[in-house]
Order: sequence, then C-alpha cells, then structure tokens
Amino acid sequence: MTKAIKILGLIGRAVDYSYSPLIHNTACDILGIPYYYTVFNIADPDMIHDALRGAKALGIAGFNVTIPYKKNVVPFLDELSEEASSIKAVNTIVNQHGKLSGHNTDIAGFASPLLGYKERITGTTVCIFGGGGAALAAIEAFNRFFSPKEILLFVRDPQKARDILNETGYKASSPVTIVRSDELEKIRECSVIVNATPIGTRGRDNEGITSIIPLDCELINHNQIVYDMVYNPLVTPLLQAAQRAGAKTISGIEMLIGQAERSFTLWTGMQMPVSRVRAALLHEMQMKSTE
Ligand code: NAP
Repeated sequence: MTKAIKILGLIGRAVDYSYSPLIHNTACDILGIPYYYTVFNIADPDMIHDALRGAKALGIAGFNVTIPYKKNVVPFLDELSEEASSIKAVNTIVNQHGKLSGHNTDIAGFASPLLGYKERITGTTVCIFGGGGAALAAIEAFNRFFSPKEILLFVRDPQKARDILNETGYKASSPVTIVRSDELEKIRECSVIVNATPIGTRGRDNEGITSIIPLDCELINHNQIVYDMVYNPLVTPLLQAAQRAGAKTISGIEMLIGQAERSFTLWTGMQMPVSRVRAALLHEMQMKSTE
C-alpha cells in the first residue's frame, strides 16, 4: 500500500510557471518525506475564503501565497505570526488540525543574504524601489535585522505609497522617507539599493525599461550592495551594471530560496537541504533560459 501523501500548494493567479513546486518537491524527494507541492490558480479574489475552507475540510497541509493574494488571505486565517501581523501580509499558511496560521517568511528570506553585511548596513541609509508587498517585507526586514538610519522608498506614486504604509499601520522603528523614483541622485548616499519592482524580469515589457536606474548614469559605486528581488534572469541588467561598478550584488534567487527554506520548516519541521535544492533550481533555470 502507498502511504497517503500530504498536499502543499501555491495560491496565486497565473502561477503555473512558479519555481516553488520544483524547490519543495526536490527537497521532499531528497528527504524522502510524503509531501507533494502543487499550484492552485485562483482567478477571483472572492473565491479565497471558499478555497481556505476547502483546505481545512480536505486537510491540505499548507500553502504559499503569492501575488495578488498575500493580503486577501489574512481575514480568513485563525491566527497570524508576529511577522505576518507587522505588514498584514502572509506568504505561508500552515494547517494544524484544521487551524490555519499565517506567516511571512519573505521578511527573514529577504534579510538572509544581507546578514553577512550587517555591520556595513546598521546606522546607514538604504533604499528600496517599489511600494508593493515585497517592498513592505524589505522595510520590515531592514528594521528587524539591520536598524538603518533611514530607508528611502523610491516610488512613482508617492500618495499611493503613503496610503499603503498607513493602511498597513506601519510602525517602523527606522524612518521611511518616500522619494519620487526620478530623484535618483539620492541613491549615491545609500549602502544598499534594493529593486522590489518587477523591472528587469525576462520577457516582461516595461516600455523598454530594463532597470530601475538608468544603466549609463554611474550612480552605483563599489561601496554599495545592490539587491535585485527579480530572479529571472539570475543576473539582471541592474546587477550587471552593479558588477561593472564593483558593487556587491545579490540576486533574487537568494530571497526565493531563503523564504522557501523557512516555509518548508514551518510545514514539515525539517531543514531544507538547501545546497541540493539550489543546484536543482539553477539547473532548471539554465534549461529554461536556453529554451
Ligand atoms: P506588487 O505588490 O505588484 O508591487 C510592485 C511594485 O512595483 C509597485 O509598487 C509598482 O508600482 C512597482 N512597479 C511596477 N512596475 C513599475 C515600473 N514600470 N516602474 C516603477 N515601478 C513599478 O509586487 P511585489 O509582490 O511587491 O513584487 C515585486 C517584485 O519582487 C516582483 O517582480 C516579484 O516577482 C519580486 N519578488 C521576488 C521575491 C523573491 O523571492 N525573489 C519575493 C517577492 C517578490 P505601482 O504601485 O505604481 O504600480
């Protein structure tokens, strides 16, 4: 007889091409544990409540949650971790005997590849481009782990960003200053530059724009750390420019693995075999880029 398999999955919209099934199924195969991770495309936000009620009834072990539902799921969960409450966004749900708890592993997953640079970051100014969920996770991560002097949030619509910060009830211990995304001179003073927009993603049309910072403007210097949350391609045009300037670079794949590692432990209680998962992921990405 085959032992029953526990189901995990990704809730999102148009998530067929996500790398999360590969990451988690590889980890489960390596560890020989009876889980299977799949995708659940939900077209209509009004179906989220039904989906979560169904998950309780069916005993689905857990979920990741991605764009555009990280905030929509919150009212339907039984409890929230402290991290998830801080930005009112959930990327991981654990079903413990019919009780759904919401977590946010994007925060620690974002921080993870920066921890080695902590001394360079604490007390300095950092900047983030974008005002969506990923930017909120980065703000929270900077505050929790690095205590910067100031966080500059570069956005194209300052009022929208103010509204999002207010709605979130954001209580940052470091001051967040909203800056228009064309006031680029300010990035010279930043120890870390983060792209939390989709700009630079392969195959995405952003009216010819491939980088948050014009690539020929020499605003990046060798003392800075440039962190692109985009992971497809692994080396985005922004990271290429940062490498040319001698800056340290961090690819979005590090956050992708960092958040997945923490979600995996919440569901299974086990450590993800990260180096083997990373190798499988890089192999898959390499294959896709040559298709
Ligand atoms: P989101 O909630 O949709 O927010 C996207 C943000 O980017 C918004 O503030 C949006 O501005 C801004 N933006 C979009 N296109 C822009 C453009 N052409 N110029 C200037 N700003 C633009 O998305 P998210 O969840 O924050 O995710 C953002 C990116 O991070 C995505 O590419 C996502 O794949 C990536 N991400 C990666 C990881 C990882 O593990 N590596 C984790 C989370 C997210 P408006 O509000 O003005 O539209």
